[in-house]
Amino acid sequence: MTAVTPAAEIAAAVEVLDAARSVTVLCHVQPDADTIGSGLALAQVLARRGVPVRVSFAEPTELPGSMRSLPGTEYLVAPDEVPHEVDLLVAVDCGSRGRLGALADRIEGATTTLVLDHHRSNTRFGTVNLVDDAAESTTSLLARVFDSWGEPIDTAVAHCLFAGLVTDTGCFRWAGPDTHRLAERLLATGIDGAGITRTLMDTHPFGWLPMLSRVLGTARLAPEAAGGTGLVYAFVRRSDIDAMRSEEIESVIDVVRTTAEAGIAAVFKESRATPGLWTVSLRSRDSGVGANDGVDVAHVATRLGGGGHRYAAGYTTRGTAEELVAALLAELGT
Ligand code: MN
Repeated sequence: MTAVTPAAEIAAAVEVLDAARSVTVLCHVQPDADTIGSGLALAQVLARRGVPVRVSFAEPTELPGSMRSLPGTEYLVAPDEVPHEVDLLVAVDCGSRGRLGALADRIEGATTTLVLDHHRSNTRFGTVNLVDDAAESTTSLLARVFDSWGEPIDTAVAHCLFAGLVTDTGCFRWAGPDTHRLAERLLATGIDGAGITRTLMDTHPFGWLPMLSRVLGTARLAPEAAGGTGLVYAFVRRSDIDAMRSEEIESVIDVVRTTAEAGIAAVFKESRATPGLWTVSLRSRDSGVGANDGVDVAHVATRLGGGGHRYAAGYTTRGTAEELVAALLAELGT
């Protein structure tokens, strides 16, 4: 997919970054490698320009284990260390201010808020918004910002950008030519692409296997959903996740979504802290790359109070297992 963000939006983003005297970068709650990779890449570029910078996310309290080897983690601070009044606030990979969790209130105290994002459902909550839903990761959007800014992408920055690229494209499964070209450029800096991918996506503790067995045992197929497109779904209950990291929980959808008989996959994940509170991952078998058919799950998730991308989206909801399924099926149309 050819990325065609208006040059003016990139120029405006570069202008505020270039003028900033100090920067606070905020990543989304339950961070993934795209938001953290974007935050740490931007922090490293600002730091080498001599600009004071901090990076934070509201929850959980610890950085997911798979991301701890990313360069730039020294710029991470706890959310209570983020002042209420900041100069330039940059939100990376956040489709709405709600994705900042408890740190969303820092927007009020910011002189300028820059939103850098690629979610189709982005609400443009910044004073300056660079939003391109054709970008396959926020890190790929950031690479264009660095190019326009004249900031070279060194090995450490490339590592962070690659982390977002490989995770948001499902290991390049739904990556277009621009993304492969960027990956080639990042790999040419000398990063270990295979090692980064293995650490982020292909490493789980042994306990993941029995967890997966229990969770996949809950899978059900609703072939009539969405006018015959079909829905496959499974439940990750609190009792399944006690010792599991977010990486193990978030990997379940990647197994469920391979079901041939269903164009849409859902995984209902119960909150560790609050029984009956669920986050829901949705996937469409249509990648949206070069094709325009299939179900836009960002649209479905937005109507259920969430958001996301055409092929990957999510929302948060409450209820019993039966109520969750009924609500989703009603939205999809049966
Ligand atoms: Mn992303």
